[in-house]
Amino acid sequence: MAIIQTVLGEIDSADLGFTLAYEHLFSDLTTRAPEELKAIFESFKKDNVGETVEELMLYRQANGNAVVDMTPYGVDVIDRPQKLAEAARQTGIHIVCGSAFYTASSWTEEERGMSIQEIADLYISDIVNGFGSTGIKPGVIGEIGVSNPIEACEEKSLKAAAQASLVTGLTISVHPGSIEESPAMIVKILTDYGVRQDKIIIGHMSTTFAPDRLADLLAFADMGTYFAFDQFATPERNYQSIGRPYWSDEEGVRAIRFLCEAGFRDKILISCDEINTMLNVGKGGPGYIYIPNVIVPMMRAQGIPETDIHAITVENPAKAFAIG
Ligand SMILES: [Zn+2]
Repeated sequence: MAIIQTVLGEIDSADLGFTLAYEHLFSDLTTRAPEELKAIFESFKKDNVGETVEELMLYRQANGNAVVDMTPYGVDVIDRPQKLAEAARQTGIHIVCGSAFYTASSWTEEERGMSIQEIADLYISDIVNGFGSTGIKPGVIGEIGVSNPIEACEEKSLKAAAQASLVTGLTISVHPGSIEESPAMIVKILTDYGVRQDKIIIGHMSTTFAPDRLADLLAFADMGTYFAFDQFATPERNYQSIGRPYWSDEEGVRAIRFLCEAGFRDKILISCDEINTMLNVGKGGPGYIYIPNVIVPMMRAQGIPETDIHAITVENPAKAFAIG
């Protein structure tokens, strides 16, 4: 039996079920906001247990069963582990959460001074002992933030994640720099440390590759890691703001079909990476129901076989997040 660590304890990976592999259930971007935008980012904050529970209940009604909260240090909220555990208790949704440092702009001066060993010790302590004195443990080392070009603290964090993964058996999930070369560079750093490809998830395929250059994606897929199409329902302006080509949802699904046909079905994960409360159904947004209610039907309409859809939404996350 393969084990997955949730915020309420260990479960059999066979019980994980339909999973959103790359989400944010509680998050706070104000720490990274420029002074003039602090008020707006304050309104984006996801820190209300009741609201998250409502969104997760809608997801459950849409046959959702599990969510991975990939929120790293620097953009998390006070008492995130306790809030996640409470949301899991109230909804019955399996919640797996991450421990990680995000991109350099979210690190404090003091954190930037930490050694690889000190960062690894923090990750390992979270995994072995739980966050602080909560006893609540992460089930993934992620999302590790990487910028383009990679910053010194981010490289230390990746190497620390490699050490922590080798010691604990947890999978590493990485937010790459928004450029085609970034994933391969990240995979090299991790595998040079001895991390197996199947213990690595690279997120954000659509802000890293271009929809009209699927050959680049294919070359990366060949490296053997898991990878996530985790930005469905993301508007064009978000891509413009980071200078990346826009992917429509249809193009995302087309890329998934292309990769399935090329033999990479068992490495694909999907999600919406919703870090902003305005994306809640309760605020008129797509919510956590978007993958089961919109993207899965779109996959069927584009001719992706039911067995492939099941692999991507159920079997792949069960393997990707299994300990060992
Ligand atoms: Zn990210």
